[in-house]
Amino acid sequence: MLNRPYSRELSADTSRIIIPTITFLTFMASLLQAIVEFRDDDHANWQHWVVALLAPLVGYAALRLVARGKQTRGINLFIGAYLAFLTLLLFMEWEPNNPLPYLYGVLIIVASMIQHPQAGLVVWGLSTVLILTVVGINFSPFSLLFVVQLMPPLTVNFLLALFSYLSATEWQFAVESVSDLHRKVQRRRDELFEMQEEIRDKNERLHATNLDLDAARQTAVTERDLRTRFMTNVSHELRTPINSIVNFAHIIAQGVRGPVTPEQADYLHRIERSGWHLLGVLNDLLDMAQIEAGEFKLYLAPTDLHGICEEALDSVQGLLLEKPITLERDFPRVWPLIRADRTRMRQALINLLGNAVKYTEEGTIWLRVQPQPDWVLVQVQDTGIGIDPAHHEVIFQEFRQIDESVARRRIGTGLGLPIARHLVERHEGTLTVESAVGEGSTFTMTLPIWHPPVSNGSQPATAALPAPHPEDAAA
Ligand code: ADP
Repeated sequence: MLNRPYSRELSADTSRIIIPTITFLTFMASLLQAIVEFRDDDHANWQHWVVALLAPLVGYAALRLVARGKQTRGINLFIGAYLAFLTLLLFMEWEPNNPLPYLYGVLIIVASMIQHPQAGLVVWGLSTVLILTVVGINFSPFSLLFVVQLMPPLTVNFLLALFSYLSATEWQFAVESVSDLHRKVQRRRDELFEMQEEIRDKNERLHATNLDLDAARQTAVTERDLRTRFMTNVSHELRTPINSIVNFAHIIAQGVRGPVTPEQADYLHRIERSGWHLLGVLNDLLDMAQIEAGEFKLYLAPTDLHGICEEALDSVQGLLLEKPITLERDFPRVWPLIRADRTRMRQALINLLGNAVKYTEEGTIWLRVQPQPDWVLVQVQDTGIGIDPAHHEVIFQEFRQIDESVARRRIGTGLGLPIARHLVERHEGTLTVESAVGEGSTFTMTLPIWHPPVSNGSQPATAALPAPHPEDAAA
């Protein structure tokens, strides 16, 4: 790792500073030397003119190569040319104690800095060979004296080469660590940038989806409102005429307006029964419309659960006439109070009891009430046709009936259970079912018990009770 060449950018950057600097210094030094020697001496010192002329050309060519991305070639040209210049000067001017061999040291340092950490050692080797050759040729026979003369510059140059090599490798190591770090930072920045782009994309998509959702929600709300308004209007429009039909049928059947034959009376009773049923269906539709519109109101007050249960049982009693079914009460000795809308709670219980009667041909229907410390359990159990567990949740969805068998084809809207569950939940309770086909069904309500708030001592704060349901108040 230590002997790898410098990164191309680093080598190019350093070359762009060092090559012009050395070129300029060499040019100036050679020119001055040439001029001085020309003035002082009538010898023709052409070597300085040559160096002064060639140095800028070499510098320019080397810089061009570096600029075109061929820095190895450019630097080699530069160092090679300077080796040649120095050798030429040495050849022309060497004499004992001449400082020229020391100038190779500059080249050694430069080579280590811009080419390769080891390049300094190579240049030192070359320069040593060149120096010894030039001195040997010029001053043959080659004597020990020259070797002794050359020892200091060669040693200094070698130390420079070694020092440059060591510091260059260390520098290279540091530079590479920094560039590694730099690369990592860049990669991380790119990743962050990509992530940012992705997040922006996703945000835009999310925004578009939100807009779609808003539009869809708006459409759904509009459609629901339309349906609700339609159901409310239709129910209201139908209620008045059906009420008239039921009442007039009842009055005529009484024989108040003239005699009726038994056959006519039977027809009139059927009209009346059907009318009541229709009114029940209309009421369910109206309730459901109000629930969906969020306009379903409850009038909660502490209520006697016993009374509600008895009233609900009374209501379904009439349905049992034609069936061999017994209605059993499993009631506690002490009844809790619940905070409820009496009419609506009775309605929920009648729905459950009515279904029990509707889907039971014979057997028993139990109404079971079991108070617990904080809540009371109200169960309607029958021995009827039962419900497949797969349908236990479906039956609580509006307009959903399970009509796979003839036994189930009873008159109904599929609204009884959803309304009952909504009512129970609005009382902060739950309504669940346990059943299997052919094994009867058990519908269980849990309702929170109302404990009177205790104010100054043990007196219940009855003054704070909410108003009862308007219909009950009227009754
Ligand atoms: P419906 O008006 O059809 O009775 P409900 O919402 O009251 O509507 O009931 C939904 C469906 O649940 C019914 O169609 C029936 O199939 C089933 N169901 C409800 N109660 C009972 C029960 N006690 N025994 C058997 N099936 C029942």
